[in-house]
Amino acid sequence: MLTNKVAVVTGGSRGIGAAICKKYAEHGADIAFLYAGNTAKAEETVAVLENIGVKAKAYQCDVANADQVKEVVKQIVTDFGQIDILVNNAGITKDKLVPMMKETDFDAVVDTNLKGTFYMTKQVYSLFMKQKSGKIINITSVSGLNGNAGQANYSASKAGVVGLTKSVAKELASRGVCCNAIAPGFIETDMTEKFTSNEAIKDSIPMKRFGQGEDVANVALFLASFMSDYITGEVIRVDGGMAM
Ligand code: NDP
Repeated sequence: MLTNKVAVVTGGSRGIGAAICKKYAEHGADIAFLYAGNTAKAEETVAVLENIGVKAKAYQCDVANADQVKEVVKQIVTDFGQIDILVNNAGITKDKLVPMMKETDFDAVVDTNLKGTFYMTKQVYSLFMKQKSGKIINITSVSGLNGNAGQANYSASKAGVVGLTKSVAKELASRGVCCNAIAPGFIETDMTEKFTSNEAIKDSIPMKRFGQGEDVANVALFLASFMSDYITGEVIRVDGGMAM
């Protein structure tokens, strides 16, 4: 479904991002992914993707740093010749109730989750406009839709991603570029490690199970493929019914 496409996935070394890279590779896309600092894990994921039979390369880049983002996108275009799909997936949490939340915790989460998405989008924007095609997929969260106690910074950043998604969708719709978001619920990754042994949380999910990276990757594949060509500005929940 993605043969001859090049996908850029931020935070592609682990968790949901790695599942998306793998899914795209299985459908024929070459993969450039970004990661923050865990080079060993990134190399492991590159090996998995190469084993599938596609070109794959990892780039260490802080998405919260506009200069680094500019350089890395330039480098990816040099290395791969084109970009067809951008998945803004890199994200962090720094959970605290508001009185205990430091301004630096608020800024770090907004800088990575929201501004990182803006910086990456800005760098592919004219490329996608000129080629009159492109798919931008932003990973938000059910916390960005409904809010979540202890996650004021995270929820604000993810709600911002929803607004950003819809604005970019409106700006680029007439150019054949789609911009959509996925809002996962509880997906089993390093980020949710401390919650996934909690039976009460599991029980609160209508489907009575935590999600897997692949549950998100399946929707990311749909949104990256021709099958979603008439869908833009949409937010699709992948949450076992949690936020309905
Ligand atoms: P993980 O913590 O498992 O993985 C995070 C990934 O992002 C890693 O590849 C990490 O790189 C990378 N990363 C973190 N910060 C930066 C940065 N500043 N620049 C570049 N890369 C960075 O996260 P998940 O897979 O759980 O989450 C992925 C996305 O899905 C996030 O946006 C998250 O908010 C969202 N989400 C997750 C949910 C869940 O239940 N897991 C629920 C709802 C949304 P490195 O390995 O080098 O650290």
